[in-house]
Amino acid sequence: MLIGGKLAGLAVVARGVALGPAIAYIRRMSIRAILIHPDPRLKKVAKPVGDITPELRTLADDLLETMYNAPGIGLAAPQVGVLKQLFVMDAIKEEGAAPRPMALINPIVTWTSDDMNTYEEGCLSIPDHYGEVERPASARVRWTDLDGKVHEEQFDGLWATCVQHEVDHLNGKLFIDHLKPLRRQMITRKMVKLKRERARM
Ligand SMILES: [Zn+2]
Repeated sequence: MLIGGKLAGLAVVARGVALGPAIAYIRRMSIRAILIHPDPRLKKVAKPVGDITPELRTLADDLLETMYNAPGIGLAAPQVGVLKQLFVMDAIKEEGAAPRPMALINPIVTWTSDDMNTYEEGCLSIPDHYGEVERPASARVRWTDLDGKVHEEQFDGLWATCVQHEVDHLNGKLFIDHLKPLRRQMITRKMVKLKRERARM
């Protein structure tokens, strides 16, 4: 996920601060190619993860590296063409704050607030386009970490938006699916054009 407007600048600042400790966390880094919408793999429901294998850990490391490099605050496995229930995020945006790289396996939203919140969202699979999306202001999520431990936590603010944006990815849904059809079609047409241009390069 990406965020638009003034927050985007903050995310970039936070990323510079975040990279040092994040690199210590990341063992075998490699940046993977991010799929650009429209792509049938971004529309599929991802499969639940069974065993936590070394390959899955490598995938999580690569997702974090790819996300920080972009820079973004969330990235889901389907966005790099792997249809598994896994995403990473780090929505720390305060300058000087410690990073919090997270990898969530088989996440389930167990509760959402009635209060709603609107953020101008963006997505690494839909470069340069942003749209205001209204979502529950808080969300509780249960997931398994890379050590196989189950967690449940309530997320608020930008974290809540990010976690719901990424869970959407695992269900084959993009933030533009929350926009009005005309706006969605306009963005999709621009993405088709962008992909055509990139293919020619
Ligand atoms: Zn996204």
